[in-house]
Order: sequence, then structure tokens, then C-alpha cells
Amino acid sequence: MLKRLALQFLSLIVLLTYSTIICTAQSTTSDSKDDGKLRIVCFGAHPDDAEYKCGGTAAMWAKLGHHVLLVSVTNGDIGHWKMAGGELAKRRTAESTEVAKRLGVTSKVLDIHDGELLPTLENRKTICKIIREWNADIVISHRPWDYHPDHRYTGILVQDAAFMVTVPFFCPDVPHLKKNPVFLYSSDRFTKPYPFTADVVVAIDSVFDQKVDALTALVSQAFEGGAGGSAERLALVPPASAPQERKAWLHERWARRQGGEANRFREELIRAYGLQIGSKVKYAEAFEICEYGARPSKKRLQELFPFYGAVEK
Ligand SMILES: [Zn+2]
Repeated sequence: MLKRLALQFLSLIVLLTYSTIICTAQSTTSDSKDDGKLRIVCFGAHPDDAEYKCGGTAAMWAKLGHHVLLVSVTNGDIGHWKMAGGELAKRRTAESTEVAKRLGVTSKVLDIHDGELLPTLENRKTICKIIREWNADIVISHRPWDYHPDHRYTGILVQDAAFMVTVPFFCPDVPHLKKNPVFLYSSDRFTKPYPFTADVVVAIDSVFDQKVDALTALVSQAFEGGAGGSAERLALVPPASAPQERKAWLHERWARRQGGEANRFREELIRAYGLQIGSKVKYAEAFEICEYGARPSKKRLQELFPFYGAVEK
């Protein structure tokens, strides 16, 4: 009897712990909406996109006390070469939560199947409510021209929410925003119908190590290769038993990737940070202003990117 009671107690503890994890991962509330700090939502299609595209800038905002929410619009449940389904969705949600913790931000993973996202009215309402509930000043997403249908439709859904978030009788159950946020696209290399324009380029040198350290939590993607991985590829990656070598391996890859962004947008960096600093920036994240949200003045952009124009060391 005593043994059975102990077992029941143990299962209750396990259940409570599990519920807490799920709630944390899905929480979109922040207790201080009126503290004068900026509020940012970064949408990605899968539980790694927002982290990859905006992780450095998110960490910089967070360091200044601003509130950043990373949203994965799908649950990533087919984003692996060896596993799939609910087990993978839970694994990737936990990875995303850990990245957010390391960046000092909040994360949310929507329970929509990976590879099946559509620009429906229902999804438009979901996106609209998230932006409103977060009371966003800035919203970031993919451009709607991208290799992956989930990326494209995330771009479309966020575009469709730009303006609708301010319309009182659209989703009237969640108070509309009085001010339309600034909508931004994260960078990509697609050129049709037009190439990405770097309106804002952020030097992330001061948080680059923190970003890479956070990304090491995305084990299923960063090390195991996600949907494009294989046993052969995995054999080339340092094992989990050698975390320092693993991090160094990832560091090198991301140094190439974000160093590439800094070089690609060198002119913009010099324009923003001046010749002396701009020419030395090693790592960058870039964003394009979407025409459908608020159109920020130069002064407003400086407020939204308070670290813009000065490389913190
Ligand atoms: Zn993706």
C-alpha cells in the first residue's frame, strides 16, 4: 500500500514537472508590459529559424532589459532524418526553450505540423493574437520568398497580420494594437522577385559567443543535421561526450556564416557604425523593413535598435 502511494506521489511529481516545462515553452505572457522597454517578436517557421536569424540581436536587446519572444510557427516534427512525430516536437520545443534561456528571452512553439503550414484565416488570427498579446513594437519574420514552404507561409502570415493587428474588430477578443509595429524581414540569399535589402545591420560581435553557446542546445539540428542529416554526416561531428570540441566546431561554422553577413553588408555597416568600427565588425545580423507595418524614421530606428551605431565590447 505504502509502495503504491509512493508510486502515485512520484507520478504526480513527474506530471507536475512535465506540465511546467510545457507551460514555460508555450508562455507568451510577460509580467511587465508597461515598463517602457521594447517588445519584440521574432517569428521563424521551425524551432531553430528565429534563433539562427535573430539570436544575436535578441541577446543584445535582452541585455538592455527589452523583452524578446522567439516564436516557431510549426513544431518541427519532421525536421530530422532519423526521428519524427510527437517525440521530435517535444525534443525540439525543449531545445528552443533552452536556447531562449541562454539568450535571456522567451520562446513559444506552436503546435502546427512541420511541412504543413498554410496561410489560412485561422493561422492569420493566431499570429495576430501573438503580436497583440506581446504588445509588439517590432515583429521579425522570413521574407515570403524562400526555399521552404513553411518559411514562405510564415512570411505571408506575418505580412497578413501587419495592419490587421491594429483593426479593432478583427479578432476582437484580444485588444488591438493602437500603434502598428515595425515589421522586419530576416536576411536570406534569394533573389527573385528581388534580393534582400539590408536596411538595418546589427554588429553582434559582443554576443557572438553567447549566441553560439545558445545554439549548441539545438542538438537535433546543429549537430545531428535535422532533416538534411545522415549517419555519415553525424560521424564527422565531434561527439556529445566532447562538448568543448562540439562548441568549437559550431563556432567555426557560425563564424563563417555571420562573418559572411558582415562582409556582404560591409558598406551598410560602415554607414551605420563609421569607417573605423564598421570596417572591423566581424559578425552581423541584417534586417529589411517591410512596407506594410509602421515606417520608422531614422530616429525611431535608433530607438528600436539602441545598440545600433555603437559596437559594445
Ligand atoms: Zn526552417
